[in-house]
Amino acid sequence: MPTSSDIPMQHRFHDLGPSFYREVPATPLPNPYLVAFNHDLASELNIALPSGDELPHWLVGNQMPASARPIASVYAGHQFGVYVPQLGDGRALLLGEVQTRNGDWLEMQLKGAGPTPYSRMGDGRAVLRSTIREYLASEAMHGLGIPTSRALAIGGSNAPVWREQLETAAVLTRLAPSHIRFGHFELFFYRGQHAQIQTLADFVIDHFYPACREQDNPYQALLEAVIARTSDLLVQWQAVGFCHGVMNTDNMSILGLTLDYGPYGFLDGFDPGHICNHSDETGRYAYSQQPQIALWNCSCLAQALIPLLDRDAAVAALQAFQPRFEADYLAMLRRKLGLATEEDTDAALLEELLELLAQARSDWTRFWRSLAMFTPGGDLTRWRDQVLDRERFDAWAERYSQRLLREESQHAARSIRMNQVNPKYVLRNHLAESAIRHAQAGDFSEVERLHQLLKAPFDEQPAWEAYADLPPDWAATLSVSCSS
Ligand code: AMP
Ligand code: MG
Ligand code: MG
Repeated sequence: MPTSSDIPMQHRFHDLGPSFYREVPATPLPNPYLVAFNHDLASELNIALPSGDELPHWLVGNQMPASARPIASVYAGHQFGVYVPQLGDGRALLLGEVQTRNGDWLEMQLKGAGPTPYSRMGDGRAVLRSTIREYLASEAMHGLGIPTSRALAIGGSNAPVWREQLETAAVLTRLAPSHIRFGHFELFFYRGQHAQIQTLADFVIDHFYPACREQDNPYQALLEAVIARTSDLLVQWQAVGFCHGVMNTDNMSILGLTLDYGPYGFLDGFDPGHICNHSDETGRYAYSQQPQIALWNCSCLAQALIPLLDRDAAVAALQAFQPRFEADYLAMLRRKLGLATEEDTDAALLEELLELLAQARSDWTRFWRSLAMFTPGGDLTRWRDQVLDRERFDAWAERYSQRLLREESQHAARSIRMNQVNPKYVLRNHLAESAIRHAQAGDFSEVERLHQLLKAPFDEQPAWEAYADLPPDWAATLSVSCSS
């Protein structure tokens, strides 16, 4: 189909050369329609998208801006701990990079635009359900201030797509400074293509980690920087109770972004062993496992970069992960508790609270949010109702009260600080599911409603109070899997 308009794009990733990708046209979808459009994000871009009937054709790849050069990049990765030599990108096409109004460049990808040379047995498609989950989660994470790829739009079609059942096709337009994964480096390491490892590392350094270039060994500096960003990301995930679900190395961003939303979940009740992905039979990616899995994944990256590194220095970089994570996690949890100073006993205070919450499976989001209302010596009913062992909670509350009094904490200022780190609204599974069910019946308003809500997860939104309620009973029957 001819294009009537253009979006200026640059093609830095394309310039890496043909060992990194294949050119692939999108496969058209019949009668596309608009499912969701992120006007806020669109207005941050320095581009004009077509309007009216033309837009859905663009969003599913039936039409493309003249500057677009669709490619599928090739990568590998460890899936559930097992190396898979070639994963591809089996269904995401990179069109090029578009500019933001700030002058930054963002890769524009169409996820689900049809098969690629890397699709293996897959159909290259995504379904409406999974694109809605990715769209909402991307924007919910962005609202929470957590690094993530962004979602610009969803285009749908009634074209049938078979998963466990018959579903319909949809394409997600997503944006990120780069979608390069740990798995991109692993592919070239295990193939013995060391020149490509260096080319890719140079690309990442020059465009995203320029300060590393100043160091004695820029590649060592890159590894250290990626480890630091990954640790920072995990602190934020754990704090809001985000479970990724498939922390395979091919889903690990070299920029420390949350990437590839599939069978993710936000904690409802606090269960450290919570497994959000039904396909994760051993709990490899359970909530409490995430930080150590992130480190394991960083060690895969270090292995892939080893031709460019000194082995001892690489090991030292990996050893820095855990102390960094633990210190930053404690600092984050202090903020969640509203503490402005540090005391040696804070870790124990926190641990005791987490045990109480785990014992009662207290709602992670609601408990933390409610803590902004805590006053030393005040009525404890609100919290006693959220735990099982009330006496133990009372003892904890007394310690917490004393702790607040010691730092002369002022209630009003503390509440404001706490409400800026303890969100009121998160994308609970049942909320996403309800938006999906409406959308599958042709009503996309709930997708839009949730998107609006989750843009400001720290604000009180009285009209939408019910979205902060405990999950309904039917939520317990929901099961999300790798099927997407
Ligand atoms: P994921 O588990 O979603 O991170 O996907 C792992 C790899 O499988 C990625 O390279 C995807 O592009 C590819 N993939 C997932 N689903 C499909 C599909 N329906 N068709 C082709 N490739 C797919
Ligand atoms: Mg993936
Ligand atoms: Mg996926």
